[in-house]
Amino acid sequence: MEGQLLGGRYRLVRQLGEGGMGEVWEARDETLDRQVAVKVISLLAGGESRGDDARARFLREARITARLQHPYIVSVHDLGESDTQRGTVPFLVMELVRGEGLDVKLREGSVDLAEAARWGAQICDALGDAHAHGIMHRDIKPSNILVTPSGTVKVLDFGVARAADPYATADRLTQTGFIVGTPPYMAPEQARGHPEPRSDLYALGCLLFELVTGRLPFQAPDSVGYLTAHLSQQPPAPSSVAAGVPEAWDAVLLRLLRKDPTKRYASAADAAQALRRLADAPKPVPAATAPLAEAWPSSSPGGPSPRKPVAPRSWIAIAIWFLITLVAATVTAANIDGAYDGRDVASGAGAVAIVTVGLIVWFAVEARPGWQARVALPLRFLPPALLFCAYAMVVASAAADDSIDWGYWLLPGGISTLTLAGLLAMAAALTSRTERRRRGIGYALVGVNAVAVLGSSTQLVSGSRVGFQYVGFVQPQWVPLAVGVSAIALYCTREITTRRAGSASGSRRTPPSTTTRAGSPRSSR
Ligand code: ATP
Ligand code: MG
Repeated sequence: MEGQLLGGRYRLVRQLGEGGMGEVWEARDETLDRQVAVKVISLLAGGESRGDDARARFLREARITARLQHPYIVSVHDLGESDTQRGTVPFLVMELVRGEGLDVKLREGSVDLAEAARWGAQICDALGDAHAHGIMHRDIKPSNILVTPSGTVKVLDFGVARAADPYATADRLTQTGFIVGTPPYMAPEQARGHPEPRSDLYALGCLLFELVTGRLPFQAPDSVGYLTAHLSQQPPAPSSVAAGVPEAWDAVLLRLLRKDPTKRYASAADAAQALRRLADAPKPVPAATAPLAEAWPSSSPGGPSPRKPVAPRSWIAIAIWFLITLVAATVTAANIDGAYDGRDVASGAGAVAIVTVGLIVWFAVEARPGWQARVALPLRFLPPALLFCAYAMVVASAAADDSIDWGYWLLPGGISTLTLAGLLAMAAALTSRTERRRRGIGYALVGVNAVAVLGSSTQLVSGSRVGFQYVGFVQPQWVPLAVGVSAIALYCTREITTRRAGSASGSRRTPPSTTTRAGSPRSSR
């Protein structure tokens, strides 16, 4: 295409890069006699009527985004169509930015933390301006951010991902029902087809995470893996991924990466403020004294932080605390075993003390996003661990009984122990739904549980032991049966949800420009 004249005015000089939608060229504007950048959207090349519709839509959408004028947003000078060998192709003429993309900076290696925070704040300024004009970016990623030699950013491709969607139909364009974006950086709600301005903040969170740690918050082999991870996995704290990242960064990035957009910064301006505080933080920030509280957005700069509203989940924690306290108090007051030996009071007080400590820990963790990511993994193991303890207590009290039939215990008891161990290991397998190896472990454990269920039900059906009172009211056959069945149900539910999320995002295809080139989920790299 070199030397070609587009729109009777723009002479292509040299190719600057190539993305999923087409190529970007340095060109000479022969009318105004200046250098420009021209993005040729070859994705929309063609001559048939469907292609015409798509191009008309592209021009319409691109015209809207071209109205943006901001020092951190690349200016769009012109739009046009040109006849090439491949048919009519739309193109976008922009200001030519002399600088490097953040993708190049990432490849080159270490990015200074303060610099990353400054760039992040400038990107937020650009996003804030666009959002105020009702325009979302939808495809914030390293290759769409250029850094000029003077160190300021220029955000590229505002709204272009959506404009260049060749499959959108006229009515779908007005709906929130299709996906554009790049999976490694895509907010959960955007993956579900409902992007909103704060989806751009999420993508920025992924980008900054990558800048300061050198890796993305989630690792996955393909686009579906990324989308699934955004939908269901908790991101790690950046300071736990890369040494030298202060905890103050954890709070800001994990807040940008919250699954629920309402839990992120309320606006790009709030996020910019938090990032500017990080940029101004003295170097190096000692981890122990990192001002975590600063990460919460403050509507009054320099003033006291506003009180954080109590989240709905916290109300649930308070309700559970209240319920357990009420039950403990009732049990203590009713003195159910009739013996006044102080045991009721001790156990009631003990239960209240445990749930109170639990509630205090809950609030401490809620207040610190950095801690939340750290406890997310151990918390997954809590329910199976508690179940295992309860089962161990039942077995121990049975073992203390002289009348125990060990041969009887070993078969169903052994199987149910295996089942519980399987449940524990399955919790581990469930921590990642995107790694093939762990998925395999999950399937194998479902098999083990199925065998356990079969063994236990055979015992039940044979009838030889039915009626045997093992420990009080618990018939042991029911223990492995119940645990095995719920383990299988748990696994299947997770599996179905994951696959549904995956196929939903897969069937609502993402345009190749932004996402899914076979084998390369990060098309721009
Ligand atoms: P996508 O098509 O999904 O946006 P991408 O961002 O990797 O993928 P392009 O947007 O086509 O690809 O951009 C390709 C490269 O061209 C970019 O990496 C950037 O370095 C360069 N580029 C784009 N616009 C300009 C511009 N206005 N000035 C200078 N270089 C630019
Ligand atoms: Mg781009």
